[in-house]
Amino acid sequence: MIGGSAAGLFTAALLAERGVFVRVFERIEVLEPAERTLIVTERMRTILGRAAEPAILNRIRRFELYTDGRAATIALKNPDFVVERRRLIQALAARAERAGARIDLGHRFHTLRESENGLSIEVERCVDGCQEAVRAEAVVGGDGAASRVARAAGWAPLETVPLVQAIVRLPADMAPDTVRVWFVPQDTPYFYWLIPESSTRGALGMIGESGPETRSRLERFLEKRRLDALEFQGARIPVYKRWVPVRRQLGNGSVYLVGDAAAQVKVSTVGGVVTGFRGALGVAEAILNGGSSRVLRNLRRELDFHLLLRRSLHRFQQSDYSRLVDLLNDSAKKSLGESTRDEAWQLLWRVCLRQPRLVLLGLRGLLMRSNAIDKPAQ
Ligand SMILES: Cc1cc2nc3c(=O)[nH]c(=O)nc-3n(C[C@H](O)[C@H](O)[C@H](O)COP(=O)(O)OP(=O)(O)OC[C@H]3O[C@@H](n4cnc5c(N)ncnc54)[C@H](O)[C@@H]3O)c2cc1C
Repeated sequence: MIGGSAAGLFTAALLAERGVFVRVFERIEVLEPAERTLIVTERMRTILGRAAEPAILNRIRRFELYTDGRAATIALKNPDFVVERRRLIQALAARAERAGARIDLGHRFHTLRESENGLSIEVERCVDGCQEAVRAEAVVGGDGAASRVARAAGWAPLETVPLVQAIVRLPADMAPDTVRVWFVPQDTPYFYWLIPESSTRGALGMIGESGPETRSRLERFLEKRRLDALEFQGARIPVYKRWVPVRRQLGNGSVYLVGDAAAQVKVSTVGGVVTGFRGALGVAEAILNGGSSRVLRNLRRELDFHLLLRRSLHRFQQSDYSRLVDLLNDSAKKSLGESTRDEAWQLLWRVCLRQPRLVLLGLRGLLMRSNAIDKPAQ
């Protein structure tokens, strides 16, 4: 396994728990990865069980949507979780090690080659530059959006977008169990969010299209709301544009990708934690079953559906967002709160049954501006 972050460590734990000998090579030297405040649906807990508990900072029961002076509140039937990435990774590392996986920190993957009995992986010990060649039957790349494993095995590079968030003190009028979302299409085809991680602090962020512009727009947005950034968190996130086949055969060995390395990210909201875990379940299933995985087929359907949604939303103008919020009648809001973002088919189906005019609005976005997301980001 290359990459000891969320998707990689969960794959390692799943395989080790089934008796597979697993080594994880992670380039950072101490298991203290960058902190990030993340929001995930309850699906995370269904997948991880109690392993997730130490990472949970807060529970979210409501979303408030704002656009152009309009507002709509959606109450969630089951709360979302706000989690801290470093704690999540540390909990997953502990689970993988308990199952017998060996984690080699401070080891950078360089390349891989076909060898007589499988694959030969070249890794470098970061502290002294010492090279090591390791033999493996299968290699899993959980090494993120700029995956070196993917390049070495011949996958095409992924397109990415910048995601930046600032940790701020919560405004006095904000409830700690409520997320705020602002649709400001002149700033971003995505949205701004403010996610409370406690009763006093939250993460205010945005997804942009070009790096420097995203940061300066976020700073302007903070200024408008008279909020000061205590710290910034950010990285580039892959844009899911089509399903990335997760396996390649190289000679007698197999190479797999998981998580951001395979663009397993919901492109409607650019959330990749739960979908990366679903990718891990699928890759582990494929390795153990020698090929096919029902979990991966379901994940593909889910990611494709989020792509359809994003295509519709991507060039929404202000008038479209205003109409969207106006169309959210009580029963449509109830439906939105009943299913999660990780069950998008179900969610949208229910909403459209209760407010069919939303289908027309979505179709309009799709037909008028369908290829906007398909243009390369900068
Ligand atoms: C600021 C921010 C906020 C976000 N908020 C949310 C959110 O609220 N909800 C959500 O679902 N998603 C969110 N995301 C996206 C989410 O964080 C990612 O989709 C997810 O963490 C990806 O996990 P991963 O394990 O696939 O990859 P990564 O976390 O990118 O891990 C890759 C690992 O591989 C290691 N690595 C890389 N190259 C090498 C190499 N050559 N050799 C050895 N090791 C290597 C890296 O050090 C790293 O540990 C957010 C992202 C950012 C940046």
